[in-house]
Amino acid sequence: MRAVTISAHGGVDKLEYRADLPVPEPSSGQVRVRITAAALNRLDVHMLGGLPGASIVAPWILGADATGIIDAAGEEVESPAVGETVVINPGISDGTCAFCLAGEQSLCVRFRLLGEHLPGTLAEYVVVPARNVLAVPDRVPAERAAAYTLATLTAWRMLVTRAKVGPGDEVLIWGIGGGVALAALQIAKHRGARVWVTSGSDEKLERARELGADETLNHGTMQVGKEIRGRTGKRGVSVVIDSVGQATWAESLVALGRGGRLVTCGGTSGPEVVTDVRRLFWNQWTIMGSTMGNDAEFAAVVAEFRAGRLNPVVDSVFELENGKAAFERLVSGEQFGKVVVRI
Ligand SMILES: [Zn+2]
Repeated sequence: MRAVTISAHGGVDKLEYRADLPVPEPSSGQVRVRITAAALNRLDVHMLGGLPGASIVAPWILGADATGIIDAAGEEVESPAVGETVVINPGISDGTCAFCLAGEQSLCVRFRLLGEHLPGTLAEYVVVPARNVLAVPDRVPAERAAAYTLATLTAWRMLVTRAKVGPGDEVLIWGIGGGVALAALQIAKHRGARVWVTSGSDEKLERARELGADETLNHGTMQVGKEIRGRTGKRGVSVVIDSVGQATWAESLVALGRGGRLVTCGGTSGPEVVTDVRRLFWNQWTIMGSTMGNDAEFAAVVAEFRAGRLNPVVDSVFELENGKAAFERLVSGEQFGKVVVRI
């Protein structure tokens, strides 16, 4: 089968398009998905560069997000049926540890991700546990279905489960244009919150306004925390969604009002942050980590997709043979929405 792979870590030049890989066979409890489209995530760029703790076996297939058609099923698979169109939850849990038994699959002690610990989705076929796929209407364009799951699931857990965003909340979302940030904007608006977004690009801020953002801040030309304090009469926001880490943490805390909640799902700018513990207790902040989502959250976001309430923004679509160009687009930081690879 065809796939986008790496044999060594490094830059985009390390990507290898292959057409000679074996088609994987599903074991008991697994299904094989014939992939029609996959989407890139920041995770794929980190994998390309090399992640601590993640070791690859060459040729390693990248990619976590995908949609496709069930092509074969192993024993003991009752649903979905062969021929159904599905989206894939890229977080693979063991189903047996205490967290899994409690329904918290993304806390699984043996949690693994497609493309990071298991062969990924930038390929014609992938094999996953049957419980990691859910059916979507086959009339939905594959590009949109592929772009949906990882970012929306991640944002859903952050906003709905962790921060419990609702009416009356003021939510700050850093870096609008990224998949998680755009999903977070939609979810926060659906839940009745007022939303502040940041970007270094006025054009992206304008597009975010069209998607419902209430307040826009160019983080290249202003101090976000100070600006929010000014515009809210020093009250600040009640929720901050931060996946940038080192570069934004201090401003996130300046922006965060009393009793506020900060949720982080990443540290794209660096891992070390500084928090003044006196401000933490005095303001009674809650600082939370979040990653991916559990099976119930996966079902909830797919239901939103089926109902047409949440829709991913697709920035661009590339052919599998052009995987390099797709990665270059993501690395450029110029995208607004998801970079998709058609297969
Ligand atoms: Zn588990």
